[in-house]
Amino acid sequence: MPDSTGFLKFERATPPRRPVDVRIRDWKEVYLERQQGGEEAFGTAALRTQAARCMDCGIPFCHHGCPLGNLIPEWNDLVRRDDWREAVERLHATNNFPEFTGRLCPAPCEGSCVLNLNESPVTIKQVEVEIIDRAFAEGWVEPQPPAELSGKKVAVVGSGPAGLAAAQQLTRAGHEVTVYERADAIGGLMRYGIPEFKMEKRHLDRRLDQMRAEGTRFVTGVEVGAPGSDLSVEQLRADFDAVVLSGGATIGRDLPAPGRDLAGIHLAMEFLPGGNRQALGLVDRPEIDAHGKHVVIIGGGDTGADCLGTSHRQGAASVAQLEIMPEPPSSRGPKNPWPTYPMVLKVSSAHEEGGDRLYSVNTERFVGDEDGHVRAIAVHDVEMVDGRFTKVEGTERELPADLVFLAMGFTGAQKEGLVEGLGVELDARGNVVRDAEFMSTVPGVFVAGDVGRGQSLIVWAIAEGRAAAGAVDTWLTGSSMLPRPITPTAVALR
Ligand SMILES: Cc1cc2nc3c(=O)[nH]c(=O)nc-3n(C[C@H](O)[C@H](O)[C@H](O)COP(=O)(O)OP(=O)(O)OC[C@H]3O[C@@H](n4cnc5c(N)ncnc54)[C@H](O)[C@@H]3O)c2cc1C
Ligand code: SF4
Repeated sequence: MPDSTGFLKFERATPPRRPVDVRIRDWKEVYLERQQGGEEAFGTAALRTQAARCMDCGIPFCHHGCPLGNLIPEWNDLVRRDDWREAVERLHATNNFPEFTGRLCPAPCEGSCVLNLNESPVTIKQVEVEIIDRAFAEGWVEPQPPAELSGKKVAVVGSGPAGLAAAQQLTRAGHEVTVYERADAIGGLMRYGIPEFKMEKRHLDRRLDQMRAEGTRFVTGVEVGAPGSDLSVEQLRADFDAVVLSGGATIGRDLPAPGRDLAGIHLAMEFLPGGNRQALGLVDRPEIDAHGKHVVIIGGGDTGADCLGTSHRQGAASVAQLEIMPEPPSSRGPKNPWPTYPMVLKVSSAHEEGGDRLYSVNTERFVGDEDGHVRAIAVHDVEMVDGRFTKVEGTERELPADLVFLAMGFTGAQKEGLVEGLGVELDARGNVVRDAEFMSTVPGVFVAGDVGRGQSLIVWAIAEGRAAAGAVDTWLTGSSMLPRPITPTAVALR
């Protein structure tokens, strides 16, 4: 039985982050590691106290907040009782990769925790990451190869969290799975998009080792279906009994304002891979380098925050992050009640490290110098009038900008190459259409993750990969024991 009064005895607490002036000099994760003094700062006992705040509320809304349906109260109580081995079993029952979500998830579960009625939810995400880190440290995360093989072959195209979750589930179900990735390393956005300071790549590599030992094959440097590719669409269909498309929503939203063709203006995903390569020591200085530059980031979301943290670590002279929407409130508004996801001001680790956040600002044009390089952006304030952004006259000004990063989201899947070659249908938003069984309009071709859902989150991608694997297994063998945590049309609590 959980301690139903823990939340009355203990305040919510989270581990401290490393001091800003220390952490911006390296690329390591922002949290203190246990072996670097983290145990003293936020020890195991402190974490167990936090887990004890889970009150056995009866109807765990957190289950519905988490797209994976993680069994949160169960593992909270197991941690409270110091039963870590059982806790990781319960965690892995619903989540293939808790070390990714425990570091990167915005934790909608905490938004729907009953204690969030008082805005002090259980630190669910922290408990999650500590369980899996401990399990790896103790050697409890072992390969789980299938007991027997089905003789069926599955290609997974795209190695982000959706593709990896589908691949792990299908390999364990006995199918021969090959994951194809066009980049030079596996991981999708977790490899070269999400910066090292949010999740060190060693966590990804450790999980990939487990998957290889289970029998999943990985092939990098192959863009399936592209002209001249080592694997054409015809060969893909001939060689495999089923295909999972998990190529992500990789087309960045552009800003066609006057001056867009000036040098020094880049989509966020043109910039972030270089920062990741620098963090990993693969390059000394990246091609797009914020060192000594005035940087402006257009887009106030997480991708923008990743550009912010990367720019600071590269030694930018100044960084401003612009957002056209007004500044969110510091606590829930009346139209955003519990248990929906709280639309409140988020201060990510990158925001703690400096830079200006400007809200209700629109970009009018990019201003160039005589060499055709951006030198400033012309902006003005906006206000909402009759549901439309309207210019506030007299607020026109220039912000110095040697580098501009466009971090305004993604508009869907890449069409050229595989998607066009297969002839799968797209919806009006540019995502690949799938039916209730995650199958595209082409029989035997399944769809998982951002390529079908549109730009989303890692937790949704893992849930999609798991659910699509269940559908693929059923299609190949007639039935399946694999869980299906979500349907293709499931949406967040709102
Ligand atoms: C900068 C950034 C930061 C983010 N931070 C977070 C975060 O902190 N927390 C969070 O929950 N979410 C975050 N997200 C969102 C999250 O990363 C995505 O929702 C998630 O990675 C989607 O997973 P996926 O498997 O669908 O696709 P992706 O991770 O996009 O992976 C798709 C892969 O498929 C490959 N591919 C595409 N076509 C082909 C082909 N024809 N052949 C071979 N390979 C192909 C691509 O190269 C890519 O590596 C972030 C996104 C970005 C851009
Ligand atoms: S995966 Fe995300 S939503 Fe689910 S329990 Fe973990 S932090 Fe919460």
